[in-house]
Amino acid sequence: MREDKERHVVVVGGGLIGACTAYFVAKQENVRVTVLERSSAYANVTSYANAGRFAVTQFIQGPPANPTMISEALQMILPQFLRASPSSAYIPTSEGVPPTPPFEYKKSAEMSTALVGWGLWYLRNCTQTRFEHNKESAQLLAARSINAMDTVMRELGKYRHKLFEVHPGALFTFNDKNHFDSFSHKAEVVHEFSESLGRLASAPSWNLLSCDECLKKFPFMRTWRNPSSDSLPISQIHANVGGGCVESTDWTVDARKFTHAVVSALEKTGKVEFRLRTHVQSLIQENGRVSGVHLDDGETILADDFVLCMGNDTPGLVQPLLGSFQTLPIVGMQGYTVDLLGCRNVPSVSMADLGSKDINWQLTLYSKSRVRITGFANFASTLDSDAARGELAKEQLLAYTRFVLPNMTWQQSETQWAGLRPMSPDNLPMIGKISGYQNVYVNCGQGSLGWTMSAASGSILADAMFCSKETLSHNDATLIERLSPNRFSLSSFFGVS
Ligand SMILES: Cc1cc2nc3c(=O)[nH]c(=O)nc-3n(C[C@H](O)[C@H](O)[C@H](O)COP(=O)(O)OP(=O)(O)OC[C@H]3O[C@@H](n4cnc5c(N)ncnc54)[C@H](O)[C@@H]3O)c2cc1C
Repeated sequence: MREDKERHVVVVGGGLIGACTAYFVAKQENVRVTVLERSSAYANVTSYANAGRFAVTQFIQGPPANPTMISEALQMILPQFLRASPSSAYIPTSEGVPPTPPFEYKKSAEMSTALVGWGLWYLRNCTQTRFEHNKESAQLLAARSINAMDTVMRELGKYRHKLFEVHPGALFTFNDKNHFDSFSHKAEVVHEFSESLGRLASAPSWNLLSCDECLKKFPFMRTWRNPSSDSLPISQIHANVGGGCVESTDWTVDARKFTHAVVSALEKTGKVEFRLRTHVQSLIQENGRVSGVHLDDGETILADDFVLCMGNDTPGLVQPLLGSFQTLPIVGMQGYTVDLLGCRNVPSVSMADLGSKDINWQLTLYSKSRVRITGFANFASTLDSDAARGELAKEQLLAYTRFVLPNMTWQQSETQWAGLRPMSPDNLPMIGKISGYQNVYVNCGQGSLGWTMSAASGSILADAMFCSKETLSHNDATLIERLSPNRFSLSSFFGVS
């Protein structure tokens, strides 16, 4: 530790990542923290209504950027870029849903450049060597996420089951038996990872269930994708279900509630000041340092260190500090959420339908009568506030829900909400100091797993700020090195691996 006088640390952004960053920074001695958030509440943007799945098993597999993904990536990105429809959406037309997916890449000059840059970095990470390297980093991050979240939950006072409505496990569903079979090798990877963690109580696991096992464990699956399945022969039910995969150690929670619990715990320490409706407009640079931030109302806030945790907006603020040949390649992937209230015949487990393709359907259990449906993942430069498109997204999510779970009913659906997953090309977050500046850090790019990685991301950032390499374990030092935002430099792009 290198502390003698009090350090004032400004954290910009009050989402999951900003709150967890403040949490771990405030643990240091001689530090006071100010969190600046431009909206009127914490976790009000992407951290508001995500699917809330603590899902380390998702990144144990390694990033989507891998040698076999080059053609798939081009198929995914190019149509959006050219404004064609995304490929192969699974839309149940029998339910009266328009057959054409309405979600297209939102064209803008700014987004075109960002997406091209991001796409190049994505392709650069598709070599076997980079894939293996990124997978190893993701697994280190998975282990850190389990431990760091466990710590935060325990320190919040009551363990997670008492503080939040936590639902253990998640069920993955498939198109058919072939789809299910093609998935089985992934469970092996999760198994190997868990073995490598030793006897950690919360080591993740995936249990593959044949169709019959799935129906036995989850009787509601008898009507999966078929309103009349009661009268159908079992062979037809088999065709609809294929099989299932249970993530028994993952769990779901309301991520916004979690953020609020972190904020109120921090407020009680007296070391952290939170300021809402505070919009940072620019950074004030002086001699290789940033001395303060300008707010949009003309106020200036000075501090010793600055941590930018602004999700998708981070690259814009930080770009003036980077050289002409460096960027923070983050693009937004928009998702939609609808909360259903007064539900009946609710599944007994949270779900993710891997057969839903572009709809990317997930169901999160909150209580016996309240569930959350999330879906879609399309590139967007800024949050799409077009009400008509939002309504269409909601209609499609509801129609798909009726299609797959015909027996579930609800009395009310709340207004749909949209969020942007801040995606990095290698699917790893960017955590650490900006090169050339001694006191500016970023913590962003957590993508579709920001809730899962939030505690780990906050603790890694605090290590990067306050600890020297020699005082850290090998794994912790490795994570700091590998997650550095400076990995997206020109020399790294043209490096040999
Ligand atoms: C549909 C959907 C489902 C998801 N499901 C899951 C899931 O099941 N599990 C999981 O682990 N993750 C999930 N995620 C991902 C997760 O929600 C995100 O990774 C996470 O919320 C990102 O948090 P953040 O704090 O970086 O960003 P944000 O929540 O966007 O927070 C950034 C904050 O910075 C503020 N800000 C921006 N610019 C400024 C400025 N200039 N001045 C001041 N403040 C500023 C914003 O107002 C915002 O509050 C999902 C995401 C989506 C969209």
